[in-house]
Amino acid sequence: MKDSLGNKVVRAIESVTGTRPQGEALHEPVLDGNEKAYLAECIDTGWVSSVGQFVDRFEADLESYTGVLRAVAVVNGTAALHLALLLAGVNREDEVLLPSLTFVATANAVAYCGAVPHFCEIEARTLGLDVESLGRYLDRIADSGQNGTINTATGRRIAAIVPMHTFGHPVDLDPLMDLCARYKLTLVEDAAESLGSLYKGRHTGTFGRVAALSFNGNKIVTCGGGGAVLTDDSDLGAQAKHLSTTARVKNTMEFRHDRVGFNYRMPNINAALGCAQLERIDTFLTRKRRLADSYRQAFRDINEVRFFSETDCVRSNYWLNAIILDDDSKQKRDSILALCHEHKFMARPAWTPMHQLEIYEGCPRMDLSFTDNIAARIINLPSGAGLTS
Ligand SMILES: *Cc1c(COP(=O)(O)O)cnc(C)c1O
Repeated sequence: MKDSLGNKVVRAIESVTGTRPQGEALHEPVLDGNEKAYLAECIDTGWVSSVGQFVDRFEADLESYTGVLRAVAVVNGTAALHLALLLAGVNREDEVLLPSLTFVATANAVAYCGAVPHFCEIEARTLGLDVESLGRYLDRIADSGQNGTINTATGRRIAAIVPMHTFGHPVDLDPLMDLCARYKLTLVEDAAESLGSLYKGRHTGTFGRVAALSFNGNKIVTCGGGGAVLTDDSDLGAQAKHLSTTARVKNTMEFRHDRVGFNYRMPNINAALGCAQLERIDTFLTRKRRLADSYRQAFRDINEVRFFSETDCVRSNYWLNAIILDDDSKQKRDSILALCHEHKFMARPAWTPMHQLEIYEGCPRMDLSFTDNIAARIINLPSGAGLTS
């Protein structure tokens, strides 16, 4: 019992983080920069809500940090994904390709558009879309013609593809972009977890026609809650702003709205927090790499688990560290998690794959045996940037 796999895992975590009698959440924010000062400024000036300079500054800061032409701040990452899909031209009854292993928001945003999620397989190296098997699958089921690509099994148009950079690790974007070109699919990146991650030196979230970021409390940079739409197309950027601010027609005193828009704008106090957080992102990234290095070291001699590391030609932000149990140990996952919780470490399992959820049961999908297999073997480890200093 003493040397059960659970005990080895707990000891490995403790060797990195020290014992934590008060407990350690999965990803605690670090708020020791200008957060208080900027929030005080909002309160002192009364600019707490939908107007104020921090929103403009946060958007400009995101643009200069990622190198994208236009960033539009919104209330959360889910809203950003919803807008991104609408801007990508996703219509009712279209299908949208996405990995089954993702946070539910990716699939929900597709459903908000009245479109149908179409679930795709992932690969072991990135835990993101397996472009090779997806290519073979599309060759079999998809028919590319004048009106775009049609799923011959359902008769619906396949409008877009949404890769998700799992736990901050970039998917293999070059072959994915080739596939998009071959099948005329619009690339929409779910970069909610990967701010600060690079693929061949370029920021994730700048490859898609549109991308979504999240600044939820557990993400690498937080606004309390928040998100952003990124795009290199100035017209789409303007549309993102317009749609997220109730589509109100500007330069008039009257309230005129030319589309059914959304109240998705980010409040100034959230942007204030985001500005202070973004000033610190390089520090967070450095600390998180150090944390990942320590975990890799700590798990090196435990044969039953593999520490999940970045691939060549990418630089991951290591948003959430993960270990993957070998096939023979997967039935031990829940007892390992329970033991971690007993020691007050909020380790957690990966998301239930979308095709296993009742709400998305009937959706089209390719063979997802690897997703089914690996999802049951992933354990996420406490990963906040405050764990190392
Ligand atoms: C966090 C996250 C989102 C968006 O989350 P919000 O909580 O709405 O900001 C979307 N997709 C993925 C993969 C995420 O991890």
